[in-house]
Formats: sequence, C-alpha cells, structure tokens
Amino acid sequence: MLRMAVISVFIFYLCCFLFDLWVLGDVTVISAVLRFGVVAPVTGGLLFYLAGEHPIAHKEVAAILVALFAQVCWSIIVVSSHNPAVLGYYYAACTFQMAITIAAASPFRPSLHASIFTFCLTYWVIWLLEGATPLYALQHLSVYLPTMSMTLLVCYQLEAEAVASYLQQQENELLKRELSRQNKDLARLSVTDPLTRLSNRRGTEMELMRLTTEAKSEAERVVLLVADVDNFKAYNDAYGHGAGDECLKRVARAMRRALPIEAHFARHGGEEFLAILSGTEAEIAASVAESLRRAVRQLGIGHDHTGDRNRHVTVSIGAACGAVRSSADYERLLEAADRALYAAKGDGRNSWRVFEGDEVERVVA
Ligand code: GH3
Ligand code: MG
Ligand code: MG
Repeated sequence: MLRMAVISVFIFYLCCFLFDLWVLGDVTVISAVLRFGVVAPVTGGLLFYLAGEHPIAHKEVAAILVALFAQVCWSIIVVSSHNPAVLGYYYAACTFQMAITIAAASPFRPSLHASIFTFCLTYWVIWLLEGATPLYALQHLSVYLPTMSMTLLVCYQLEAEAVASYLQQQENELLKRELSRQNKDLARLSVTDPLTRLSNRRGTEMELMRLTTEAKSEAERVVLLVADVDNFKAYNDAYGHGAGDECLKRVARAMRRALPIEAHFARHGGEEFLAILSGTEAEIAASVAESLRRAVRQLGIGHDHTGDRNRHVTVSIGAACGAVRSSADYERLLEAADRALYAAKGDGRNSWRVFEGDEVERVVA
C-alpha cells in the first residue's frame, strides 16, 4: 500500500510539471531539472528501499522524508519564479501536507513532525515569494491551517483504527488458540478413562478405525489380549470401593508398563482391560500375556478373600490373534479372546490362555 501511495503521489508530482509550464512559464528548465533530474531518481531509490526487507516504520519515515525533499525542490521552483501568478499557485503547498499525512497513511507521530517541518518551510518560503504580503500570508494560512489540522486529525483516526483492529485481531488469535487448546483437551478427555488415565472404549474404537483405514498392513497381524482382575468383587466387598479404585489404578499402571510402548491399552470395562498389539507375530501373544500376569502378581497387593489358596490380587488373561480388516473381524477376535479368558478363569485364575483356531490352548497356568 505504501509503494502504491508513493507511486501515485510521485506521478502526480511529475504531472505538476505541466502546471509549472502553464501557470508560471518562467521556471520550465529548473522545474524539469528538479522534478525529473533530482526528485525522480530519489523516488526511484525510495521504491527500491521499499521493496527490500526493512521494518515498516523505517519505510514510512523514508517515504515522508522523500516527500519533504520533494517539497524543498518545489519551493526552489516557486521561489525562482517572477510570475505574479505564483502567489495563487502557492496554495498548492497544501498538497504536500495531504501527501505526508493521508496519502502515506503513516503513523501519527512522524506525520506530526513532518507537518511541523512542512509548515515552517511553507511559511519561510512565503517571505521569499515575489509580491507576498502579510495579508497574503494570512489568507494562505486561512486555507493551510484547516487543511493541516483536518489531515492530522484523519491521520490520527486512521492510526487509532489500525491499532484497534490490530488489537482485535490479536484477541481473536488468542481466543482461537485457547479454543483449539480446549478442543484438544476435550478430544483427549473423551478418549481417556478418568480413573486409570488409560484409553477408554472410545479410544479403542479410534484405534480400530486407524487399523482398518490407515494402518492396513499393521492390521493384518494383530494380537488382542483381554485381562480381568480376579475376584475383584470380593476385594471391593472386603476393603471398600476406595481401596478397589486404588487397586485398579495400580494394576492398570503395572500392566501398561509391562506392555510394549506402541501397544494400545485400554480400560475395557469395570475391572477389565484390553491390549491391542498390531503388526506383530502371533507367537508373542503367550509371552505378552505372561508379562501382564506376572506384572500384576508382582505388585503383591494382598487379597485375603479370594476364596482359594491365592492371597494376592491377580489377573486372568485371554488372548487371540488374527487380521482386523473390519469391525466384524475385531468382534470375532474379541469374542475369541473372551472365550480364552473364560477358560483361564475356569482354570483357577492367575493364568492366561491363547485362543487358536477353534481350540483354546492352554500354554501356562
Ligand atoms: P472374576 O474373577 O470372575 O472376574 O470375579 P470378579 O469378582 O472380579 O467379577 P465380577 O464381575 O463379579 O465383579 C467385578 C467387580 O468389579 C464388581 C464391581 O463392583 C467392581 N468394579 C467395577 N468397576 C469398578 C470401579 O471402577 N471401581 C471399583 N472399586 N470397583 C469396580
Ligand atoms: Mg474380575
Ligand atoms: Mg469382569
């Protein structure tokens, strides 16, 4: 915008050569030399500077300085004229005031300083004009002063509006960032179980979506494990719901640590957990299940009400392996893992089984 303003004001300045020619007539040469030979190259330099990587404030000041320089050159032209019409022509001094305030759309402070300079220059030059009287200076002032005050007022308003719109933009940006942060928090919360901080069922649905749409090669080899805390109702009944919650958190943490970092691990239900290991060999199912079982048993959480010889909180695990190309595949795999879990429970708990084909194979108990 600044470059466009400079170019248009500059073209106007060059065209004013015609006024010098037409109104004054006796300063044609000096006007041509100053306008085309001096101001034009300086403006070219300014445009080159404006095209470079400089702070906008410096560019605005540079544009104002060149406008003031152009006014100095114009002052030399009018002072050189002996034509009586120069007095009427000199009212055009107001256009420099307009150029440095409105056309340049510069900040108020440099515009004010430039206006003071322009004012001083204009009324110093007026005494050098042939035929200028105090009355003429007064008449000139009656036009110049309103022009100066109004253009400065507009300049101030433009700056105030620009600042207000900048602040509004910043505020919008902040609000947008805050909203996006809250959205992210909400998205995270919607897939997080509040008690264990693990993924919840919704998180598992998203993992399933990822497998069936984005990570199809990973989905070809999936190991799915379902772990259920043994005799947990009895634990709750004996030690209270608060202790039960604490126990669930510790069990969840221990199993999460025992799993590979890339495994999806979620709280599937009350005291039931689900692990999905994708892109992995079926053979690891047994060793992962054993790691989970051992991790929980090694916590050594006492449980004197298991109803059997075991005196600690333990988990039973069912595992199944296969491809998950669709939700139906997942449901089948989950059902198979559930059957394996059921078999592990029937087998005395604190054990695991891997479902293979139509058989539930017991590997370790
Ligand atoms: P099994 O070995 O056959 O799994 O027996 P179980 O007692 O663990 O299984 P059952 O399904 O009979 O009981 C599960 C209990 O888990 C019942 C419920 O009170 C408890 N439970 C479920 N969710 C929570 C929870 O968020 N906090 C607590 N403290 N208890 C829970
Ligand atoms: Mg249970
Ligand atoms: Mg259960």
